[in-house]
Amino acid sequence: MSTHYSKPVLVRSVQSIQAADLLPANAGRASRVHALINALGLKDSVQIEAARAATDEELCMFHSAEYVRAVCYAGSDESDFGLVHGCSRFVGMASHVRYAAGGTLVAAEALITGRTRTALHWEGGRHHGRRARAAGFCYINDAVLGILRLQQRFSRILYIDLDLHHGDGVQLAFEHSARVTTLSLHHASRGFYPGTGLACVEGRGRGQRRSINVNLQPGARDGTFTGAYSAVGELVVERFAPDAVVLQCGCDGLAGDPHKVFNLTTDAYAECLRVAMAWARPLLVLGGGGYSHSDCARCWARLTAVACGRGSDVPADVPEHEFLGEYGPGFEMAVDAMRVADENSAESVRAIVDAIAGQLG
Ligand SMILES: [Zn+2]
Repeated sequence: MSTHYSKPVLVRSVQSIQAADLLPANAGRASRVHALINALGLKDSVQIEAARAATDEELCMFHSAEYVRAVCYAGSDESDFGLVHGCSRFVGMASHVRYAAGGTLVAAEALITGRTRTALHWEGGRHHGRRARAAGFCYINDAVLGILRLQQRFSRILYIDLDLHHGDGVQLAFEHSARVTTLSLHHASRGFYPGTGLACVEGRGRGQRRSINVNLQPGARDGTFTGAYSAVGELVVERFAPDAVVLQCGCDGLAGDPHKVFNLTTDAYAECLRVAMAWARPLLVLGGGGYSHSDCARCWARLTAVACGRGSDVPADVPEHEFLGEYGPGFEMAVDAMRVADENSAESVRAIVDAIAGQLG
């Protein structure tokens, strides 16, 4: 275990944080996350590597040239590429796309070269993006690009998605692949975005039974979520024997997120990261959804501490820093669960785990 706690790589730069701050759905979030990481004194416990802007050629490893042209250069027909409604064009869009992708590629390269066993890129994790279409606030699918880059060295990759929403873009990209297994824990139901991820085990052709979904009901508490994650995660790691793991840590399942579907605290995400680190595979950790800036910063700053082996050093109170005023009224690092019922039972979670175990064969 001790070697796995060698300094993780944290990918960020002034430019990449500024670029991420421009995304309308998460405007200003990246600044808060990194200010809290700094305030917790974690800078000396990580190796900071600068995110770079991905090139057109790198974006085209997954995305179509027409789509890259539409996103990065003005003057295309937006409606053809989903650049409407929730995914409208915004000032700085090309910069956001290039740094979100480039940062994840830098993190993947740190694992490929062996500079670290854990690489973190909180501005990544845009899991809904399609080959030629923006979707769900995701203009680029850096998770797919990161997996493709990891494949240069690692033959079998496990992608795990903790976001409240189904990791549909990543599943779709690899549903035919025998080399990538996707596991998404989320809430899925009719009318809830993106509307997929209902079946436990999916996948096509050579990728059959390689797309795994754990669909949890509203109110999921920490024990429900981590219980399902650990049971299914162990099963998948044992059967698939991945050489590297990608963990998308979208934290819109936190109790204080405006979605108010799951009822999680940062304890659940910390436990999921610890379990993934204990699998002792090169680990790429990405961000994702999370629509309360202060709770998202609490979560990812804590996960950064966990990655450094300093999870138990996190203080009870949010330390003094420029955004402290946004953490009131309690100013605590912990977030509380709400007093709502967990619609999942131990039996319902067991039934999901058993169904997946049965179908994985
Ligand atoms: Zn989400």
